[in-house]
Amino acid sequence: MTAQEKNLRYIVLEQGDIGGTILQYPRAKIVMTNPVELPLWGKLKFTEASKEQLLELWNAIIEKTKLKIATNEKVSNIQYANDEFTLTTSTRQVTARYVILALGRRGTPRKLGVPGEERSKVTYRLIDAATHNNEHIMVVGGGDSAIEAAIGLASQNNNTVTLSYRKNEFSRIKERNKTHIDDFVSRKKLTVIFNSEVKEIREDSILLLTQNGEQEIKNSYVYIFAGGELPNEFLKKIGIQMHAQVV
Ligand SMILES: Cc1cc2nc3c(=O)[nH]c(=O)nc-3n(C[C@H](O)[C@H](O)[C@H](O)COP(=O)(O)OP(=O)(O)OC[C@H]3O[C@@H](n4cnc5c(N)ncnc54)[C@H](O)[C@@H]3O)c2cc1C
Repeated sequence: MTAQEKNLRYIVLEQGDIGGTILQYPRAKIVMTNPVELPLWGKLKFTEASKEQLLELWNAIIEKTKLKIATNEKVSNIQYANDEFTLTTSTRQVTARYVILALGRRGTPRKLGVPGEERSKVTYRLIDAATHNNEHIMVVGGGDSAIEAAIGLASQNNNTVTLSYRKNEFSRIKERNKTHIDDFVSRKKLTVIFNSEVKEIREDSILLLTQNGEQEIKNSYVYIFAGGELPNEFLKKIGIQMHAQVV
């Protein structure tokens, strides 16, 4: 939108569909944000919106501003020669003087690398919690995605939801999620097991390594939210150097 506002020639190349990570959110997920000023559009004043409202807004903006976005076009390589970049996409080559990489961080969901992880009951994103009722579900992770999934699943009919997190407390999660999860735990709507790691995923159960030793828990579905692996190979291939940063 900034490029369009400044009358620059540009194109957005998107390997999938408009929405990026937001498209992968669970249905009706509440997105929390700060007010933001969008070029060509103005201020977005809300601090909360549902996934669907946000996508509707993006689409309305795109329609009104006639942004040039090529969807389903993956960039597989970027080379630099004679003062310009040549991008190879799944359908063509595009040249540009500047390239902005906004690839997201999700990349490929990080796996736990434990026996049984290949079972079909194991997933790395939750689209619709309402499809689960009367199930024993394990959610693995301690970030906002894990907590929101656990709360969504525990809000359905008669699910027994356990959240396993390897650290001893949640850190850097949104205040609203912290309040929610504390409330669910105190009302015994879900169980949180801190300092625990998944050891094995079995057909009808899951084996956790906890502070009190091994614990086998009845299980029908596993949702893993252990972050994502950066699209490292692609970044390396196009010549981006990465350095470890001490925070
Ligand atoms: C479950 C969940 C809940 C969240 N909740 C919130 C929240 O409430 N509030 C909040 O502020 N943030 C939230 N976040 C984080 C937020 O969604 C992300 O920070 C944000 O979407 C990142 O936007 P982005 O444009 O940087 O990346 P993305 O949305 O990931 O977009 C990157 C795009 O690049 C495309 N792409 C990647 N590689 C290529 C390639 N080689 N060629 C072409 N296209 C490519 C991808 O297909 C993708 O569409 C949440 C995240 C998750 C997973």
